[in-house]
Amino acid sequence: MEHAHAVLEEVFGYAAFRGPQADIVAHVLGGGDALVLMPTGGGKSLCYQVPAIVKHRAGQGVSVVVSPLIALMHDQVGALHEAGVSAAFLNSSLSMDEAAQVEKQLLRDELTLLYAAPERLTTPRFLALLDSLHERGLLALFAIDEAHCVSQWGHDFRPEYRNLSVLHERYPGVPRMALTATADDLTRADMVAHLQLENAGQFVSSFDRPNIRYTIVEKTDPSQQLLRFIQREHAGEAGVVYCQSRKRVEEVAELLAREGINALPYHAGLDSRLRQTHQDRFLREDGVVVVATIAFGMGIDKPDVRFVAHLDMPKNIEGYYQETGRAGRDGEPADAWMVYGLQDVVNQRRMIDESPAGDEFKRVLRGKLDALLGLAEATDCRRVQLLGYFGEASQPCGNCDNCLQPPETLDATEPARMLLSCIYRVQQASGMAFGAGHLLDILRGKATDKVTQYGHERLSTFGIGAHLSETQWRSLLRQLIAREAVAVATDGFNTLSLTDGARAILKGEERLSLRVAQPPAAGGRQRGSGSRRGATVPKVESDLDPAQTLALAALKAWRAGVAKEHNLPAFVIFHDSTLRALAERQPQRLGDLQGVPGVGQKKLEAYGPQVLAVLTGLNPQPA
Ligand code: ADP
Ligand code: ZN
Repeated sequence: MEHAHAVLEEVFGYAAFRGPQADIVAHVLGGGDALVLMPTGGGKSLCYQVPAIVKHRAGQGVSVVVSPLIALMHDQVGALHEAGVSAAFLNSSLSMDEAAQVEKQLLRDELTLLYAAPERLTTPRFLALLDSLHERGLLALFAIDEAHCVSQWGHDFRPEYRNLSVLHERYPGVPRMALTATADDLTRADMVAHLQLENAGQFVSSFDRPNIRYTIVEKTDPSQQLLRFIQREHAGEAGVVYCQSRKRVEEVAELLAREGINALPYHAGLDSRLRQTHQDRFLREDGVVVVATIAFGMGIDKPDVRFVAHLDMPKNIEGYYQETGRAGRDGEPADAWMVYGLQDVVNQRRMIDESPAGDEFKRVLRGKLDALLGLAEATDCRRVQLLGYFGEASQPCGNCDNCLQPPETLDATEPARMLLSCIYRVQQASGMAFGAGHLLDILRGKATDKVTQYGHERLSTFGIGAHLSETQWRSLLRQLIAREAVAVATDGFNTLSLTDGARAILKGEERLSLRVAQPPAAGGRQRGSGSRRGATVPKVESDLDPAQTLALAALKAWRAGVAKEHNLPAFVIFHDSTLRALAERQPQRLGDLQGVPGVGQKKLEAYGPQVLAVLTGLNPQPA
């Protein structure tokens, strides 16, 4: 472990391991297999990179990293080069010559880390290479990144991952690590089974992301709500907006661009070159907003994404958590913001009902959707619910919408019964089912043409619900759908009918609650302040004094130039937090750079003099 600490400081410029990193590194260096479950931004990469460096220095050969993210390998390897670590990748983006070159380096034991796509890894050609290394004792470690891809319960099942069991069978003595940021119990069990990790050490971190603020608001006018949210809280900052359809992606990106936001669309229907360009601009430029379908983001490890917005609801909490997890990997304040409405519930239900999956599978999917609906309708701490879903107990967080502005609630048990009996009565009276709009008109006593046409103004439930707003009724209806008390037909009319779950509520055995009124859409708040966790949320730019702010701007401009020259994203050169530390400390000598977080030995040598020049250029010293 001594070596590991030395590597952490010298190569990465970090003073200490974070959370369970030290235990994981020690376990792997001791020859054990490991299953690592850590939230996005938790620091998974160092868990295999540090052992890889230690092992290579000790003459144990190369560590092979399996990653499904071909688009990212270039940047990951680039980041290692910046830190002075020899690394390469093998994937379909390389020419024959380039690939041959990498293979040569590999056989000469010149590489500390090799990144490879799973389908490449299990080819006979690649296995022959590994055989040769293995025979010479030069195969140090396998790290399987995004290991949840092995599970069909996850949201990005990749059949190639199933073939990775060959690693264990063929090279039983080589330690293996499987790492992921998403895993409920089902997925975790799948990883253990398919990757044969029965004897692996299991390292499960807290999944909490304290710097992310969760907000879920009622969908009224989603595009305008989004626009206001970005303009008020994230002007000029990088973010991701998720929409369900390609068409919506295009519309929203256009709208944002018209309003002067640097927004780009991303979906599978775009020309692949254009898609790549948009992804590159997001990674490399400051303050780009990508509007995307879920095709975007898998493994995007841009650390300074300040918000993730959902205009449509994802399928389940795993998806929601993974997507929102792309915000704030640098640990600084970030927002996870979602608008959601009845139509989301209907759409997701329909997708499940209409999928060709078997009944058992559909039941699992419905259960997962219901858990997400429960989260969206929650009137208490979102984080407690989220973490609870992943089996983690916690206390109200002070950094979600419900904690910051506790909604006043009322007991909605009686209104729920009204709604249920209204659905029942209307169906009885007319011999057919109706949709939400019509039913709410009846409850609220609105004698519309349709109501009178069917004579529904004469029903006993007409007008009994005038004391609640339409918004409140819709929220209640969503809760009833989430609890499977009401079913939405997939007949194109979204008609509502009662299901088994209604019985307990009608009998008064289950209680429901409801917001008294929707809190105003989040706005005008101070970042990182006013919360119980405020103390742990790092300082932000506005805390710098004017001279420091100037220094930071100069450092960012310098960094942009270097990044461009190296064809790498800016954060690979130095993180924002490193630049901020430099702007605050205003180092005068190279020695002063030692110990600045994120400044390792190689970067100190490569960039130290330039950084000092940038800083002294701003504060010319008397000769
Ligand atoms: P993950 O892959 O788990 O999402 P990363 O490996 O990308 O997370 O790490 C997230 C961020 O945290 C990176 O910017 C990384 O440099 C930083 N980091 C990781 N470990 C440490 C540490 N021990 N000290 C300081 N920063 C760290
Ligand atoms: Zn909370």
